[in-house]
Amino acid sequence: MKLRRLAFASGVVLAVLVLASMNWNAYSNYRSMELQLPTIGRMEVLGSEMGRLQEIRRNSVRMAAASGDRTWEARYRRFEPQMDLLIAEIDRLDPMVYRGDAADTLSAADGALDRMENLAFNLVRAGKKVEAQAVLSSNAHEDQEDTYDAGMAAFNSDLQHTDDFVRTKLRVELRRTVITTLASTVFLVVGSVFLFRATRRWQRVLVESNSRLSQKSLELEEFNEQLDKKVSQRTKELKDSALASLNMMQDAVRERGISVQANEKLNYLAYYDVLTGLANRQLFLDRVAQYMRSAVSGAHKLAVVMIDLERFKNINESLGREGGDLLLIQMAEWLTQELGDANLLGRVGPDHFAVVLPNIKQEEDVARFLEKLMTDFLAHSFVVDCTAFRLTAKLGVAIFPEDGDDPEVLFKHADAALKKAKASGDRYLFYREKMSEMVAGKLTLENQLRQALDNEEFVLHYQPKVNLRSGQLTSAEALIRWNDPRTGLLVPPFKFIPILEETGLIKEVGRWALRKAVQDYLRWCASGLSAVRIAVNVSPLQLRHRGFVAEVEEAIAMGEGAEAGLELEITESMIMEDVEHSIASLQAIRNMGVSIAIDDFGTGYSSLGYLSKLPVDTLKIDRSFVIGMTTSPDGLSLVSTMITLAHSLKLKVVAEGVETEEQSQVLRLLRCDEMQGYLFSKPVPCDVFESRFLGADDLLGARVASSVI
Ligand code: C2E
Ligand code: CA
Ligand code: CA
Repeated sequence: MKLRRLAFASGVVLAVLVLASMNWNAYSNYRSMELQLPTIGRMEVLGSEMGRLQEIRRNSVRMAAASGDRTWEARYRRFEPQMDLLIAEIDRLDPMVYRGDAADTLSAADGALDRMENLAFNLVRAGKKVEAQAVLSSNAHEDQEDTYDAGMAAFNSDLQHTDDFVRTKLRVELRRTVITTLASTVFLVVGSVFLFRATRRWQRVLVESNSRLSQKSLELEEFNEQLDKKVSQRTKELKDSALASLNMMQDAVRERGISVQANEKLNYLAYYDVLTGLANRQLFLDRVAQYMRSAVSGAHKLAVVMIDLERFKNINESLGREGGDLLLIQMAEWLTQELGDANLLGRVGPDHFAVVLPNIKQEEDVARFLEKLMTDFLAHSFVVDCTAFRLTAKLGVAIFPEDGDDPEVLFKHADAALKKAKASGDRYLFYREKMSEMVAGKLTLENQLRQALDNEEFVLHYQPKVNLRSGQLTSAEALIRWNDPRTGLLVPPFKFIPILEETGLIKEVGRWALRKAVQDYLRWCASGLSAVRIAVNVSPLQLRHRGFVAEVEEAIAMGEGAEAGLELEITESMIMEDVEHSIASLQAIRNMGVSIAIDDFGTGYSSLGYLSKLPVDTLKIDRSFVIGMTTSPDGLSLVSTMITLAHSLKLKVVAEGVETEEQSQVLRLLRCDEMQGYLFSKPVPCDVFESRFLGADDLLGARVASSVI
């Protein structure tokens, strides 16, 4: 229904559009023709005007010929420009209208008459009246006159004809338009009717096919139902048969189970040592290969350690084979326990074990691990047949990637190192000799430092800090020194402090330094010296340690007012490692009344944004900037900026490592608050500091004096 209406409506719209365009076409045609009508009228007027002027001219030439009076010639000539204008106008309008032969005849006759009349005037001018008259009355002249008149009449009738022609043409045009309009209207109406009927037919066809479709879908549904039935029946059949074959398979598997177990056993034998249950050589090497890959991606090192039980042959002989086996089993268990992971172990020979240390940062880590392993090993007693044994072992180490980038090679090199160790007095050796020496040296130092701590060989030296304007002592920095009983103060802090840090000993040494500084301060106060605040350096390990705040608290609890004598120097990078935790700890410490300084400022990467958030009191500009300050303009502006920045954050500024008068002067100009450095004093032992800077000598002098009195 909708379709039909749409078709009908579009037919009507189309008809209206076509009719409108045709009528518009006819109308514009008619308008353009009509515009020509006034032109025709004007031509008629021009024609009769021409006729009139020609008449006057003709009379003038006759009068001239008759009277011999030449003034007629002037009258004659007077009309010439007027006629020229008329001719020009006719020429202009001429192409617009219907053009017959009359116009040509007319202008030909006019030309001929012109020529003869000029001849007559020439004769008049020459006084030949008779000859002039003869020309005018000649047959030729009369003929031309007749031709001209006839031409004029024809011209006018042509014009009349044009008029009729245009009007007729218009009428014909209009008629044609009306007819075509009517015809197209009829055509459109017929077309619309046809369309209308066609859509009705299509509709009928659609309805029919629709009903056929629904019939088909009904059939389909029926078919589906049948199919469903068939499918469920078939599924049931399949399920039954699958169950049957599953049962069969289970039976088969049960039968084959025995052989699978045998296979597993074979596999086991291929990769494991039956006696100890550890990986055998093959599996151990596979695992090393795996650890190597993760060492490469994690950019760390890896170590393979070969362990050889010494005198095992003797033990085997004295205990018998079974006793030896028991010992090996116990050894495997003990190693597993020490390493905490059996995957790191392998039994690679009758009395050879191998260990892989998969994540190594430095060779010393390996050495430290081995030292501990050997100490524990020597202390452990193995019991076989109620007899306790202490065993000894030799070890060889190879490091990946330096000693080999292939498991086999690494293994071979660890074995080579082991052989060398067995031939030497060393308990373990690295594949590279240099490594062994270096590690040995470091470990010796490490052991010595451990002893130094136990034997209280560390001392604190004090370096004064002074006010840059007044030059007065303000405080002191406590700097640790190792007073080795054999060599004295030979080993400088930059050599032993890193080792204390690596080994974690710094936690204890740092705690000692903290307590010692507080004790010294309290003693200064008690003995009437002009005590100053002592700045103690704190290592990253200490700050990270959860108990650090409590340690500080304990230290200042040693005496009343101790907090006023303590400052902690913490490096900038240390704070940045764990900003949140650092801020919390520093805040707690500051709340106790202890002040805080940022050490080596400028060498870390702290963002200035954080600086304002840090609970600190003082900023220590690193020595490198103090040196740079007087050697380059950039260096100077850098220090100047640091000082301004610190002051804007209400921090006190201390310049470190001031060695020259020039440096101190520049710093004074830059309004730095305090300085510390060799210029004023090197770090000195406690007693020297007391006598030189705290007035101990004066005090002693006064005491002596008073005791004398
Ligand atoms: P630091 O905290 O930057 O200490 C300043 C270092 O500069 C000291 O070196 C000091 O002797 C040196 N120094 C002072 N004035 C001048 C100078 O004018 N010129 C030169 N060239 N050096 C000067 P020291 O005593 O060798 O200490 C080195 C570093 O060891 C210290 O650097 C500090 O980081 C660390 N340290 C010292 N004592 C302790 C401590 O008790 N605990 C911890 N954790 N670290 C400490
Ligand atoms: Ca310091
Ligand atoms: Ca410093």
